[in-house]
Amino acid sequence: MKIHEYQAKGLLKGYGIPIQDGVTIEDLAQAEAAIDAVNKEHGAEQYVIKAQIHAGGRGKGGGVKFSSSREAALENIKKILGMTLVTHQTGAEGRLVKKVMVGEALDIKQEFYAAITLDRSKGMDVFMVSSEGGMEIEEVARTSPEKIIREAIVPGFGLRGFQARNLAAALGLEGQAAKQAVGMFQKLYKLYRELDCSIVEINPLVVTEQGNLVALDAKINFDDNALFLHPEIAQMRDLDEEDPAEVEAAKYHLNYIKLDGTVGCMVNGAGLAMSTMDIIKQVGGSPANFLDVGGGANVETVKNGFRIILSDPNVKAVLINIFGGIVRCDRIANGIIEAVKELDLNVPVVVRLAGTNADVAKELLAKSDVSIISADSFEDAAQKVVHAAKG
Ligand code: GDP
Ligand code: MN
Repeated sequence: MKIHEYQAKGLLKGYGIPIQDGVTIEDLAQAEAAIDAVNKEHGAEQYVIKAQIHAGGRGKGGGVKFSSSREAALENIKKILGMTLVTHQTGAEGRLVKKVMVGEALDIKQEFYAAITLDRSKGMDVFMVSSEGGMEIEEVARTSPEKIIREAIVPGFGLRGFQARNLAAALGLEGQAAKQAVGMFQKLYKLYRELDCSIVEINPLVVTEQGNLVALDAKINFDDNALFLHPEIAQMRDLDEEDPAEVEAAKYHLNYIKLDGTVGCMVNGAGLAMSTMDIIKQVGGSPANFLDVGGGANVETVKNGFRIILSDPNVKAVLINIFGGIVRCDRIANGIIEAVKELDLNVPVVVRLAGTNADVAKELLAKSDVSIISADSFEDAAQKVVHAAKG
């Protein structure tokens, strides 16, 4: 799960990590009060207006604006609140900005990068820093990866003092600033562990002209499987920022991920779902989604799966590929028949059922008056559905 910058900063603050603070609003009517509050609480005379969306690259897309006066801040809030912000992470359709943060502007001397994530190949968390922080970090990672310094964290030991000092030294920090950095890195790792994060990223981490180390931006993602341990974080979820079909699918415990092809897929089991996507590609098509209806698929799951697949206007044909191991194919067939009758289907559906009671299922489908294309093998099914999708 992702959260907004202002929420992430709230968590950092709770761990005693200095942040660029501010007030977040959803309505233009709150703008003046927010500016006043930032002025009062933080003594700010200059402001930075920041779009709150779950995507990076806001600065480059025009979603972060420095404002040298109260009037400029107001102008920028008007511009950003309600805009459709396009960044390299939103796709061409962009994202509607529903919240903006009115932040205290800081005088920046240096911009660094700091992040923690799990390195799956090492089986360890890694703490990364770079002196080349700011808006070009992707470019740095691509062209000069040696400028990103890493410390792998041994499970059980945590981020050790010498590692935190190495990281601070890698940023060229000395004396008081290095001390501040060491303390901050240890708090960041503590937060990462205690809150079951999958990513904590501070970009940029800045040194101000006054010599303070401050998190100017913050991005935190959480491990969904641990969210039940953190109800206060689960509450921060912003469904407006997520794909509506994925949100709907989650309600029914369906594993759905939208993709950009034309062949809708309904499959049971993640492995079969992956190989279904592969074979569709292999025969020249492209999948519109990943959908694992799970081991206990029944009439309801099939119906809901269908509805969610069909809500995607790109879908030109649907492939149902079910292996009856725990589930019986005849139950799936009944689900398909009911769903097709109920949902007023306007695209061809190819069905391949294999395993327990597959023969009964085939008979049921053949006897019913729903029009589906039956397939015998996996490959046959893929070819038929790709052909159908191409119309
Ligand atoms: P992102 O583009 O989505 O990563 O948004 P950031 O919060 O990182 O802001 C983008 C850039 O705006 C930063 O890298 C800074 O260069 C600049 N910026 C943000 N806040 C301030 C500020 O208080 N003062 C100054 N001078 N620049 C800022
Ligand atoms: Mn940033």
